[in-house]
Amino acid sequence: MTELCLPDVLIRELEDIYQGLETEYDALAYQLSFSCIGCPDNCCDSYFLHHTYAEWAYLWLGFRQLNPEKQQEILRRASTAVLACEQALRRQERPQVMCPLNEEGLCTLYTHRLLVCRTHGVPAAMTHPDGRRLTFPGCFRCQEIVGALGMEQGKIPVTERTPYLRRLAVLENDLLQGERRRYPKVGLTISQMLIKGPPVVLP
Ligand code: SF4
Ligand code: SF4
Repeated sequence: MTELCLPDVLIRELEDIYQGLETEYDALAYQLSFSCIGCPDNCCDSYFLHHTYAEWAYLWLGFRQLNPEKQQEILRRASTAVLACEQALRRQERPQVMCPLNEEGLCTLYTHRLLVCRTHGVPAAMTHPDGRRLTFPGCFRCQEIVGALGMEQGKIPVTERTPYLRRLAVLENDLLQGERRRYPKVGLTISQMLIKGPPVVLP
């Protein structure tokens, strides 16, 4: 099976998308005087599914740069995490399982972490292609800050994700060479992305 490789031009585009989102995030965090410093929580145990082959391939680009022993250690943690998530889901609970890439509170693959890892925290909004508008209130700590500032609903500043997500959709389509509909939809945790190996080209 041939691995689905991100060509350099798409790597640069993905990194530019990440950079744009992070710049917006930082600006809003500054405006709200919000930061993760001193937070008693660690969002890396939150249950998120990730939806693009592009991010999956990019994660693997970073993973391959780790030494073989570290890769094996992370894969062992990923297997345990996958099982723990499955058990929680069977109990109809939302899994709360630490990401296998987190070591002592820090991300082992910080430069290759996924979009959700880079954007969770501050309030955000996006418009779906069908026109539906979605808003995200931010993490519990940011919601407390917004609440203390007494901001009215509808007037709370948000980071606007739509243009970046549109660019990511175009990038994904380019990666799949215009055959996006032929590929199964992705909905994987980081642990699953690691256990499955890098994404492959469909025959
Ligand atoms: S995003 Fe929010 S909940 Fe997560 S670590 Fe930062 S402050 Fe804490
Ligand atoms: S990839 Fe890194 S930042 Fe994202 S959940 Fe895992 S450890 Fe946390």
